[in-house]
Amino acid sequence: MGKRTDKSAAIVTGGSRGIGRAIALEMATLGHYVIITYRSNDAAAQETLEMLRNDGGEGEAVKFDVADTAAAEGCVTSVLERFDAIEVLVNNAGIVSDGLFVMLSEQDWDSVIATTLKGFYNMTRPVVRRMIRKKRGSVVSISSVAGSMGNRGQANYAAAKAGLVGASKSLAAEVARLGIRVNVVSPGLIETEMIHDAPVEMIKGIIPMQRIGRPEEVASVVSFLCSPGASYITGQVISVNGGMC
Ligand code: NDP
Repeated sequence: MGKRTDKSAAIVTGGSRGIGRAIALEMATLGHYVIITYRSNDAAAQETLEMLRNDGGEGEAVKFDVADTAAAEGCVTSVLERFDAIEVLVNNAGIVSDGLFVMLSEQDWDSVIATTLKGFYNMTRPVVRRMIRKKRGSVVSISSVAGSMGNRGQANYAAAKAGLVGASKSLAAEVARLGIRVNVVSPGLIETEMIHDAPVEMIKGIIPMQRIGRPEEVASVVSFLCSPGASYITGQVISVNGGMC
């Protein structure tokens, strides 16, 4: 069977719910075939696919841990067997495992770093290798305001999210001349399951816009960064945080 040439492919890790779901729906609107990855919640992934298809989009959901190198490579290989190129990669999968630094277990530290940074390595390397051959593509990774400001109880998360910025800026410098753009979107507090244990009312007080953001408000910026309108933007971190510095 020949490769599909009628559509480009976009991969959104952690695309089954929250911010990733909103990004996946945006990518379908842009006309991409969307590969949503997730780790465990089958129902959420199926629901996202249904929403995407109801909007006239096309896609599939693939279940694996982004920290698993072989599984990530398997996912990318399977996409490249069917599509000539992967136009967009959004590294969105992320977890929190909060605790004061002196109380953080090795497991808390390793799991957060692995999901974010090993996940970035595992997904981005095989995708960018193909993008280099095609001389085009866009990679966007989702960091966090915690990565630049730090946050009490989130040393592991802040380290991972800051690492994502350093890795992205470095990769951007390496592949800019090859037609590939690499950027970061750094959200503040966004209404998803991830923040259900956060002291939202207290945090609203320190957000200049005095409200929590919506997943769609992050997704629209990711979508812009992957569009021709952002053709001269690479190596940048765009904050979406209601005015937090
Ligand atoms: P959610 O917890 O709502 O969703 C997380 C998504 O990532 C799910 O699809 C989940 O799949 C997937 N996921 C988690 N771990 C893995 C893994 N190891 N392998 C594959 N998939 C995984 O998170 P949000 O939508 O809130 O967050 C999305 C991104 O935005 C994250 O990187 C987060 O750090 C970042 N962010 C979020 C903010 C917020 O306020 N919400 C603020 C700043 C940044 P499954 O459900 O199957 O486990």
